[in-house]
Amino acid sequence: MKYNTIGDHIIWTDVGFGNSVAINLGEKVFVVDSTKSWKLASEWRTDIEEYFEKPVNGLILTHHHSDHIFGNQVFSDVPIIACSDIRTMMKGFQEGYWAKIDEEERKEWENEGYEIKKLQFTNPTICFENRLQLFGPKSLELIQVDGHTTGSTYLWQVDTKTLIAGDLVFNKSGPYGADESCNILVWQKAIEDLINLKPEIVVSGHGPVATIQDLQEINEFFLNSIAFIRMKLENGKTLEEIAADPDFPDYYYQDRQERKERSIKNWIQFLQNNS
Ligand SMILES: [Zn+2]
Repeated sequence: MKYNTIGDHIIWTDVGFGNSVAINLGEKVFVVDSTKSWKLASEWRTDIEEYFEKPVNGLILTHHHSDHIFGNQVFSDVPIIACSDIRTMMKGFQEGYWAKIDEEERKEWENEGYEIKKLQFTNPTICFENRLQLFGPKSLELIQVDGHTTGSTYLWQVDTKTLIAGDLVFNKSGPYGADESCNILVWQKAIEDLINLKPEIVVSGHGPVATIQDLQEINEFFLNSIAFIRMKLENGKTLEEIAADPDFPDYYYQDRQERKERSIKNWIQFLQNNS
């Protein structure tokens, strides 16, 4: 499988749509997010274990979205670690949307490469509230901040100043903000927190590795979007009018205008209800 390396402690891949990362902490190797399918995850795990010449010791989840967790079953023999809110969101998805999908929707998922025929939902086995620190020769902090979704968590390795941001960072790729639990205000503040860490390495949830300048550019997009929506709402504009406004700030949505529109509409609705 095609993957990228950073220093001697990180390998990551974007093959499974959402980026998946493996971090070597000295004695232990953790995988962060499991790609969109068990097939890819299985290949990926083999690559990780060959690269670090060590078995994988655990899987950590940054949030509940399908492109980050549909490969979980490949890691059912090791601890799967996530904050309690991620487990709640995963169960909500399984018992809500997934319990009701029809044949046509199944086909769509299959066509998009999610390999759902042999999918076995595999939920976190170790949960924490807000924050967890894994100790070892090198420590790893897991910090829940929400924003992109309820439960969104980033990982911080202090010695190497490595940030694994999950979908809090879409780098050079339009952020997906259409999740029901998305809170654009909290998300923007989370990006400021990430900047304040002064990371030297930033592995994003989608797109290439980021720099602090990239984070600042993303932060500006969020600040501009919030200000734009608030100004238009104050001027009495409707959700549809704001979403269709050609002056709405852009950030690498390019050919994904449908994603942009769904995200913007969700943010407008949120700011209408939380002004
Ligand atoms: Zn996501």
